[in-house]
Amino acid sequence: MSYAVEADELGKVFGSIRALDGLSFKIRPGEIFGIIGPNGAGKTTALRIIATLILPASGSAIVFGHSVITEASTVRRLITYLPEEAGAYKNLSGIEYLRFMGKFSVKNRETLEEIIEDAGEISGLGKRLHDKVKTYSKGMKRRLLVARALMTKPKLTILDEPTSGLDVLHSVHVRDIIKDYVKKQGVTVLLSSHNMLEVEYLCGRVALINKGKMVAEGTPEELKRKNKAENLEEAFSKVVGLA
Ligand code: ATP
Repeated sequence: MSYAVEADELGKVFGSIRALDGLSFKIRPGEIFGIIGPNGAGKTTALRIIATLILPASGSAIVFGHSVITEASTVRRLITYLPEEAGAYKNLSGIEYLRFMGKFSVKNRETLEEIIEDAGEISGLGKRLHDKVKTYSKGMKRRLLVARALMTKPKLTILDEPTSGLDVLHSVHVRDIIKDYVKKQGVTVLLSSHNMLEVEYLCGRVALINKGKMVAEGTPEELKRKNKAENLEEAFSKVVGLA
């Protein structure tokens, strides 16, 4: 089988901190794959390597057959990346922001207008799309940014904590956006989260990581069954020896 992502023995060190310590995982095309783990487990570092923003110190990662190390510019054309602390240009309106970002990947005017229309729908922001981003709440900004990540129909979208800082209603909206969009467009998603409920709802398969290493992998159901746990939080606690 050819994979969307094959990460093999990724290692990364920042000074004396070992952020990743031989992390391997494989993602199938069209699946939503979640990396979960506690603060500092290495989730963002892993996502940033796959997004070609930083290089691994050791190991390799292949995205749709292309190395993130030697073919980074090809990989960048296939992916979008939503950082945890992303911002949008606050003096543009939502729609101007989407158009501005869309122009980087779409040159044809009609196609550009189509994807902007799609993005508007994905965001669910309605008339507020014409207001300046600086007037948006945190949740509205996140919806705009998720729409931006999905609108160009990338082969892979990498979402770091997609619902970070959002209340329940906005989180539910963002999760539904992701789930619906993947079903309709067949985009592959790699996301990270602390929120185990979110991961259980969204992800086909998950990797539990701790201290830069994979501690368990499988479907949420498999992980719960194997660990005789009622939910992923309990499964994780059992795997890392907290329960
Ligand atoms: P969180 O859930 O808190 O966002 P995370 O699982 O995403 O955490 P990372 O951000 O990947 O974890 O960080 C893993 C480890 O590497 C942490 O100890 C962090 O302090 C360290 N680290 C990450 N980036 C850097 C950096 N640029 N410089 C120094 N240390 C870093």
